[in-house]
Amino acid sequence: MQYGFFIDAKYCAGCKTCQIACKDRASLEVGQLFRKVVNYEDGGWVQRGEGWVHNVTSYWFSISCNHCADPACVYVCPTGAMYKRSDNGLVLVNQDDCVGCQSCVWACPYDAPQYNPEVGRVHKCDGCIDRVEAGQRPVCVDACPYQLIDFGDIEELRAKHGGTAWVQGLADPSRTRPSLLVNPPTGAISSPIGGSRK
Ligand code: SF4
Ligand code: SF4
Repeated sequence: MQYGFFIDAKYCAGCKTCQIACKDRASLEVGQLFRKVVNYEDGGWVQRGEGWVHNVTSYWFSISCNHCADPACVYVCPTGAMYKRSDNGLVLVNQDDCVGCQSCVWACPYDAPQYNPEVGRVHKCDGCIDRVEAGQRPVCVDACPYQLIDFGDIEELRAKHGGTAWVQGLADPSRTRPSLLVNPPTGAISSPIGGSRK
């Protein structure tokens, strides 16, 4: 089984409630985020006939560690501190073994591992494993006022929501095979991987 996230980016308002709920749970210092809400913008003014029109695209999406099937962070970690659980696919950091070399920080195409200078180690989204094992949902899922984030077995999420692993602004999913499904925002260029949301 592989845990993952579904993000309904089509309706994301960019309110950052998920980002703040996650930061609060993890008591993160200024400058560190396990979940980020990012804005993608493209386009400008184009000439059409004798006039000018805009083709601007702008949207928000919420992103964290995607607990990838091919986790570059795990592959480059020299001590084995970054590891992938065989039972649920979550990618976690064993703090006792992390030496703070930041190889994972540079390898991850999603900017997920966060270096904590206070302790000289890296930490990141753990899928709220303590809450999940207690039968609860990750805090980002509960916090979104529009209920746009879902978490669970990635195949069950795919059957429930559909979605794609890539929209313009995200890393190429062939690099790490993220456990991520996104309902693309209106106007976004996206890959058809996973089909479309019903
Ligand atoms: S998103 Fe980055 S940190 Fe998370 S599993 Fe994938 S490569 Fe590793
Ligand atoms: S809480 Fe929901 S609407 Fe707000 S930024 Fe996060 S995903 Fe978007």
